[in-house]
Amino acid sequence: MKFMSASKSHHERHHWVAGHIAGLPRSGIRDFFELVSARDEVVSLGIGEPDFVTPWSIREATIYALDQGHTSYTSNLGLISLRRECCRYVQSEFGVDYQPDQECIVTVGVSEGLDLVMRAILNPGDEVIYHQPAFVSYAPAIAMAHARPVPVHTREADGFVLSAADVENKITPKTKALLLNYPNNPTGANLGEPEKAALAKVAVKHDLLVITDEIYSELTYGLRGASIAAYPGMRERTVFLHGFSKAYAMTGYRIGYACGPHQLIDAMMKVHQYSMMCACGFAQEAAVEALRNGRDEREAMREEYRQRRNVIVKRLNDMGLPCSLPDGAFYVFPRISDTGLDSQQFAMRLLEQKNVAVVPGTAFGEAGEGYVRCSYAASMTDIETAMTRMREFVNELS
Ligand code: PMP
Repeated sequence: MKFMSASKSHHERHHWVAGHIAGLPRSGIRDFFELVSARDEVVSLGIGEPDFVTPWSIREATIYALDQGHTSYTSNLGLISLRRECCRYVQSEFGVDYQPDQECIVTVGVSEGLDLVMRAILNPGDEVIYHQPAFVSYAPAIAMAHARPVPVHTREADGFVLSAADVENKITPKTKALLLNYPNNPTGANLGEPEKAALAKVAVKHDLLVITDEIYSELTYGLRGASIAAYPGMRERTVFLHGFSKAYAMTGYRIGYACGPHQLIDAMMKVHQYSMMCACGFAQEAAVEALRNGRDEREAMREEYRQRRNVIVKRLNDMGLPCSLPDGAFYVFPRISDTGLDSQQFAMRLLEQKNVAVVPGTAFGEAGEGYVRCSYAASMTDIETAMTRMREFVNELS
């Protein structure tokens, strides 16, 4: 993550800072966006959050909860009404049955869910395998739990789908878990049934825990199958992480949830109880409303993303930046290596010369070299403008 060199002073070690924290890089995305925010008139395809405001009925439920004076702590596990809705939803949409009182915990976004599961399961020196490119928090979440992140590179030629054989090659006696995120940030790739089955088989064979981050699951443009948690032998070895940020445009509410076997949820609950107490109560009430009545708005947003995806993919390919049609999330990950620039040079020069922000692929690990991430959670107008400027930029390079 070379973007961080701009802020070297932040990385100098101080004797009070723990070694494993001092050694962590800052998020390449955040550093890049400090540069972006310093400029006027930037068209940004950089941010990984919906450009929609939260649907009105959900906002209204928040206001109602506040109006009723619901401003106190909730149960550590979260409101039972929300846990019931979450379990019902996971059962009907993902094919796995969880008990709301024993096997579900409400978290402060999927971000906290990730942190909880890592701190609950990892001993110092344990290894967690994950795919790269990956969401920027994965390796740090593992490292902050004193464990070792072990990346497995995914390739454009395989549609950025994680190969079960590649995972198997990285397994050592210290491997404890496999962390998955499909639909994927930053590539938009998704797993099909055979790939999920193959990964499930490896997990069972080597007695691995699987942590599946399903935050983009609703934003799937083809068929959406069952979660890997529903595969044979998987329910007892999977922690299912989900949340409201993406599908319901609720990033600022900070609500997520984790489902899994009771002993694991109970261990996560201890970490949560002593570090967070509970997630925000009126935000939890809003999440109940999202699950009860949010489907139509959610589907309307997905339809809009689908149209934007079709436009952006066509325009990128037309200008000579190859990318396949991604199955999910709201990202495309075009290959830019033919321009002769590396991903950071490409993103920096595009920003400086054309005022368009995209994220260098290396922000998602070294496997992202040669690519940039463009988010289509931006208005169609912004997408069109960004594509026109990007085409000029690419033409001027050649
Ligand atoms: N996982 C992935 C793959 C993400 O892309 C994000 C957000 N960018 C998160 C988790 C965190 O989401 P939340 O808002 O639920 O903490």
